[in-house]
Amino acid sequence: MDNLSQETRSRIMSAIRSTNTKPEMKLRKMLFRHGYRYRVHYGKEKIDIALPSKKIAIFVDGCFWHMCPKHCKIPTSNVRYWKPKLIKNSQRDKKKTKQLLAEGWKVVRVWDHELKDVDKTVGRIIEKYLQ
Ligand SMILES: [Zn+2]
Repeated sequence: MDNLSQETRSRIMSAIRSTNTKPEMKLRKMLFRHGYRYRVHYGKEKIDIALPSKKIAIFVDGCFWHMCPKHCKIPTSNVRYWKPKLIKNSQRDKKKTKQLLAEGWKVVRVWDHELKDVDKTVGRIIEKYLQ
């Protein structure tokens, strides 16, 4: 049972969403600056940032929505609403990753919190996947 009204809930959810779009933009800008060209929300898996020619799929995972072990705190007042929802999200992530790996993609998952230091994270991605 959930004591939030539909309106309140969608307000909370959109607030969480909008804060999560910024780190992805940072990463995109930085990749572009390094000369990489990418597609966003690519393919049927809706890859956040895809480099199709290199078959690299980058997902930026919000700490809340994707259950970051360090930062995801399930709201205690509505555990019965949030917990299944978040678990479903992370199961969907795993399924997408598996599907893409089977299709020969390299899958890079980046937490929002890793993009506080975007230079370091982009450096790591380039070193590991793009050279
Ligand atoms: Zn986190």
